Amino acid sequence: MTINILHLYPREMNLYGDHGNVLALKQRAIWRGFDVKVIEHHVGDPIPKDIDIIFGGGGQDSGQVKIEEDLRANGDALKAKIEDGTPSLVICGLYQLFGRYFLTSEGKEIRGIGIFDAVTVAGSERLIGNIVIQSERFGEVVGYENHSGLTMPGEGAKPFGTVLKGAGNNGSDGTEGIMYRNCIGTYLHGPILPKNPAVADFLLLEALKRKDPSIAALQPLDDTLEMEAHRSAASRPR
Ligand code: GLN
Repeated sequence: MTINILHLYPREMNLYGDHGNVLALKQRAIWRGFDVKVIEHHVGDPIPKDIDIIFGGGGQDSGQVKIEEDLRANGDALKAKIEDGTPSLVICGLYQLFGRYFLTSEGKEIRGIGIFDAVTVAGSERLIGNIVIQSERFGEVVGYENHSGLTMPGEGAKPFGTVLKGAGNNGSDGTEGIMYRNCIGTYLHGPILPKNPAVADFLLLEALKRKDPSIAALQPLDDTLEMEAHRSAASRPR
């Protein structure tokens, strides 16, 4: 069985090791005997029909401007996949643009596709450093954040987690990220998946369940190294 991963804008949206998330997904699938095909989506490409996981990384404001139009053109196709339950992970710059808009420090509004009920407005200082959050679904999740945008989730938006150390969505309400259906939006770079294997396996299992409903669980892996990396990241100073 082949898992098709759609990687959104790998040229413009790749900060602090975000590509590593695709490598982690791929390797954890291969270790369990599955094949993986990574389809890079660049500006101008169509969104293929047969997609099992959607991933997109973070990017500078200038990168977000470059992809804005293409993302909006494909907004309905991406929205339909996410409404349908396609497991997805979007980090920082793309997390912001999966919301309604990002208003930059220069006063430019970069429009998003409104999958998440959230708006983002640049603050006066960047929020930078190691971050640890507690997620209801995944337990402790660790990463690294670096963003000017302050994301304000709407009333009904369900956070990905609550902040234990760091700033998260906006540095004031204690929330981090948003989870809508099987789509996770988060500020956590690092990359997040190699050292938070529970999140990686959630994406893989949801993808596999949709392909073959008889699959109920993933074959466990030896995550000793992954959890050592997790603990080491969690113990770093902010
Ligand atoms: N440009 C956005 C911001 O600064 C996103 C940054 C990022 O993806 N790390 O808020």
